[in-house]
Amino acid sequence: MGFPKSGGDGLNRQSSEVARAGVSRNLVEAELVTSVSWLIKLRWIAGAGVLIATWLVHNLFQVGAPIAVLYGIGVAILFYNTFFFLSERQAKKRGPIVKTFRSLAIWQTALDWLAMTLLFHFSGGAESPAIWYFIFHIIIAAIFFPRRTALFLSILAILLVSGTVLLEYFGWIPHHKLENFLPVSLYQSPLYVVGVLTFFSTTAVFVTFLVGSIQDRLRQREAEVIQLSEDLQRATVRLRAVNEISKIVNSTLDLKQVLERLVETTAKAMEVRACSIRMLDKSGRYLEPVAVYGLSQTYINKGPVDALTNPLAKETLSGKVVNIPNAPHSPLLQYPLEARQEGIQSMLSAPLMGKSGPMGILRVYDTKASRFNKEDEEFISAIAAQGSIAIENAMAYQAMSELDKMKSQFIHTATHELRSPVSVTRSLLRTITAGYAGEVSQQQKEILERATRRIEFLQKLIDDLLDLAAGKVGSFVAQDLQPISIKGIIEKVVERYEIPAQEKSIELRFECDCSAEMYVKASKDGLDRVFNNLISNAIKYTPNGGKVLVKMSPLDGEVHVAIQDTGIGIPKDSLPRLFTEFYRAPNAKEMVTEGTGLGLAITKDIIQQLEGRITVESQVGVGTTFHVFLPLAHIETITLTPMEEQA
Ligand code: ATP
Ligand code: MG
Repeated sequence: MGFPKSGGDGLNRQSSEVARAGVSRNLVEAELVTSVSWLIKLRWIAGAGVLIATWLVHNLFQVGAPIAVLYGIGVAILFYNTFFFLSERQAKKRGPIVKTFRSLAIWQTALDWLAMTLLFHFSGGAESPAIWYFIFHIIIAAIFFPRRTALFLSILAILLVSGTVLLEYFGWIPHHKLENFLPVSLYQSPLYVVGVLTFFSTTAVFVTFLVGSIQDRLRQREAEVIQLSEDLQRATVRLRAVNEISKIVNSTLDLKQVLERLVETTAKAMEVRACSIRMLDKSGRYLEPVAVYGLSQTYINKGPVDALTNPLAKETLSGKVVNIPNAPHSPLLQYPLEARQEGIQSMLSAPLMGKSGPMGILRVYDTKASRFNKEDEEFISAIAAQGSIAIENAMAYQAMSELDKMKSQFIHTATHELRSPVSVTRSLLRTITAGYAGEVSQQQKEILERATRRIEFLQKLIDDLLDLAAGKVGSFVAQDLQPISIKGIIEKVVERYEIPAQEKSIELRFECDCSAEMYVKASKDGLDRVFNNLISNAIKYTPNGGKVLVKMSPLDGEVHVAIQDTGIGIPKDSLPRLFTEFYRAPNAKEMVTEGTGLGLAITKDIIQQLEGRITVESQVGVGTTFHVFLPLAHIETITLTPMEEQA
């Protein structure tokens, strides 16, 4: 998916230029604040520099000059800089207000200019080497002030220099000669004076333009970089949102969750006030609100939205993204008054399209008029496309789960009906076999016994199917869910299988690492069924003389039960299908012909409903271990049943 770059069309280009101008203005202001501080630091050096230079000139180079005045200028610079330093500190404490910093900058420049002119005058005027220091000031002004101000300041510098030079030339102010510096006096030489002023003026103007234009270009580049990084940041947020929505597509099949996450991520990614999803109802005519983020209940319940008559709904459901820049006055809106009361000014609607046509509408709302542009339209369209897939998948899953439940319900009803005739037939067969209905020949007895075995298998199949259906509709768990001691349940199951184990000379053992009682939140029937299935399998699929060990121990907030046997094992190919209904591995079928292949499916269902896990490891000819992990119930939640209290 690609996003249009800003500046792609006329409108975008215009708006991004306006934004850039704004960024550029902010930059100048930010620069002003930092430059005021920087200039203050620099001025400490300048003031000290004047004092040191005066001392050197006087004592080391024996140059004659009005030393006291020059020292005075140095001290004055340090003095007014102290004042600026304190005001700047205060201004920073109050928060850097641009106005304060601008006036600070103007005052600093004015005093610097004055100090510079005095320094120039008292160090020889036209003959002063200090003239070059004016250039520093001109460069600094060109860096920190807008072009026009910088030009004004450089003209001011030219006037100050020219004024001083000319006033000295005509003798209207005294000339302070630097003794021992120049061999001849030049300040009254017309050619020298004209030369100095011409070169100084042209240098000043040229430097102002040169620095100004470099500075302008730098500012423009900086503004562009900032603008680009802002664009990039926005694009990243949006990409992340699309990615998030893709994740929703893959991570959940819960329709309610999909819809809720969709509206929330969309609103956040687009930085809008609200987002909603309306889906067509079963009649396909009315749009019902199914997920809302950021809207009031009053607005949501404003009235029915008829897909056939509502103009906005009609246009969106035809497959278009509809942008409404001024919602309270849009003819497309059915409820403009309610929109105004809700504070909604702009809306953007996108269709949610399923495989067989429109399913609903994804809409974002904002309190600013004309809030959405082309970029937003493309973005919401991408989100709606992704969202549609998620919604369709979740809907399909929901339909499938409902179908599955119906199927289980059907099995439950059908097998329930079969149960009593089968059990009656079974007891009738037993009665006949026992000879209560008259003498039975040996041959008849054998046939009757075979019939009994078949009917017993049928009875087990019916019981298993009933359990499976009960597991699917959650009856094992929905029953009396209370913390029960798991040890007692397993002990009973092990006891139940002691005789069958002895018949096969199998050593059946139960070991418990039980320093304390372990409770799990479950139903007794459910737990009994789980361990009955696993222990019966272990005995069933272990040849005579083998071993079956049931081990129980606590493990990180869970109880771990391992059912380990030295039986026939499970072939690698069979492992992935082991827990599916009716599946039996070939080696198991060979060993024991009878079996429904439902036991493990039921076991897994129950364990999952108890929020536990079951895993298996096995090696053909060596043995099998099933591991069951169930979450331990917290002690505070445990209330003992009267039976357990007695025990
Ligand atoms: P039923 O439980 O109705 O008697 P079953 O035992 O075959 O039939 P499940 O309990 O669901 O059905 O077990 C499914 C299959 O898993 C078995 O047929 C067998 O192939 C394999 N299996 C289960 N437990 C063991 C075990 N302890 N050792 C070897 N294979 C096993
Ligand atoms: Mg079994």
